[in-house]
Amino acid sequence: MHGQMMDMPLLISSLLQHADRYNGESEIVSRLVDGKVHRYTYREAHARTRQFANALLNLGIMPGDRLGTLAWNTHRHYEAYFGIAGIGAISHTINPRLFPEQITYIVNHAEDKLLFIDETFIPLIEKLSPQLPTVEKIVILTDKTDIKTSLTNWISYEELISGQSDELKWPTFDEQSASSLCYTSGTTGNPKGVLYSHRSTMIHTYTAAMPDAFNISVQDVVMPIVPMFHVNAWGLPYLCTMTGAKIVFPGPAMDGESLCQLMKAENVTLSAGVPTVWAGVESHLKDKKLKLPNLKRIVIGGSACPDSMIRSFEIDHDVEVAHAWGMTELSPLGTFNTFKPKHVALDRDAQLAFKGKQGKVLFGVEMKIVDDEGNELPWDGKTFGDLLVRGPNVLTNYFKQTEPLLIPDTEKKGWFDTGDVATIDPDGYMQITDRSKDVIKSGGEWISSIEIENTAVSHKDIVEAAVIAVAHPKWDERPLLIVVKKQDAILSREDILEFFVGKVAKWCIPDDVVFVDEIPHTATGKILKTKLREDFAGYNISSA
Ligand code: ADP
Repeated sequence: MHGQMMDMPLLISSLLQHADRYNGESEIVSRLVDGKVHRYTYREAHARTRQFANALLNLGIMPGDRLGTLAWNTHRHYEAYFGIAGIGAISHTINPRLFPEQITYIVNHAEDKLLFIDETFIPLIEKLSPQLPTVEKIVILTDKTDIKTSLTNWISYEELISGQSDELKWPTFDEQSASSLCYTSGTTGNPKGVLYSHRSTMIHTYTAAMPDAFNISVQDVVMPIVPMFHVNAWGLPYLCTMTGAKIVFPGPAMDGESLCQLMKAENVTLSAGVPTVWAGVESHLKDKKLKLPNLKRIVIGGSACPDSMIRSFEIDHDVEVAHAWGMTELSPLGTFNTFKPKHVALDRDAQLAFKGKQGKVLFGVEMKIVDDEGNELPWDGKTFGDLLVRGPNVLTNYFKQTEPLLIPDTEKKGWFDTGDVATIDPDGYMQITDRSKDVIKSGGEWISSIEIENTAVSHKDIVEAAVIAVAHPKWDERPLLIVVKKQDAILSREDILEFFVGKVAKWCIPDDVVFVDEIPHTATGKILKTKLREDFAGYNISSA
């Protein structure tokens, strides 16, 4: 027997309609490419998004068409998110930090019809456009009409929408329709596309806004630092729109000083980003002895958040840290570290140590750890195994991929293998020990590179650290620590090795340390271990 409730699909356009009607006066503030600050309300954003959607319809854009964006977090990118999905087309967010060949590959693979680009990326697209045959028009996200460019088929965003009517009834369609497309960075092989649906995005929006996740209310002022070109800025544009919270978009200026200045000026209460961004904010606050009195909470994820960073924000800056884990394949958030009542009773030191775990799952995601044969492993907080997930916001396959992706054998059937290795404690809190390709297998034991890296960066003179496995005649593999030290710091290999004593198990202490000026990063700001493994291939470790 069917229930007798209204059959209304979960569509992204409903978020902006709701914001307009019930929180229409809440602001969206953006720092633009030229440094100017733009501000308007959800109501105005909705009107302009309808104009934009009408412009797309007049250009003949059809449901299912892919439209690419190469853009910073600003109000125009926000309008593109909602306008494109609102008419049933697909917003394909492109990470401008990918290699040019990768950008060419994904625009062609997605068959993008239009590209929306910030001025910053004009030189890049001038170079690539001859190799992008599917792109019919380039829309530059600006109001300027006198841009000097060799591009011939371009129009400014403001020109595109000016004169368009803001009358539009958002169409209704199947909630399983695709809404946005994001490619993983592809550290191995070509980038792979993850195609989200209206339904998966809406389910993620409901669950990720909850108190035990982002905890966003209409009273919040939210700054999504995590880029809109990477996994929908962890869903924040949707979450803020649902709750009516004021949004502050930082644009391209993501250094510590610019972020602190904007957070202070706009009274930001909640923000989210990867550890490298927070390291910049932290050092700016420290150097300038600044306070951000309105900032209550920050969400840190994308890479493991070092213990030292959690302590610095919580103790020195009086800002609550929530550690989160997710991935492109998941919409993207999977877990959040927020406390159960028993953790509230812990002493402060134990609480801060506990925050190093990546946390418990959001409703809608199921998670388990398994051994190589697919047998489920115990939730004892010690046993680690491959982390598998499933749920309505987990992908079933990559865009245009035909071979089945989900695990076919009986034990793991229907689960997605995250490629992460993790423990789960009896309370359901997951902790990542490594990417499966990054674990160091030493004499039959597994060494967690994350644990060693976090310990290393808790040293006051170490800016960044990475650990990779190098071949060893007796132990198969041993850890090599690669370190960027603070400028002018006097720090030796022996000082660092001594620092590890008593902090990690003896056999996990790296065998050797090399100092470098810079550690290579992926397009999403993570340590590029494949490059380090190449650079240090054949490294002769001193204990060998
Ligand atoms: P990309 O490969 O494009 O950087 P993702 O952003 O999807 O893609 O990366 C997801 C991966 O990032 C996860 O599988 C995990 O290895 C890592 N990750 C994300 N959040 C955390 C975290 N809080 N701690 C440790 N690793 C994390």
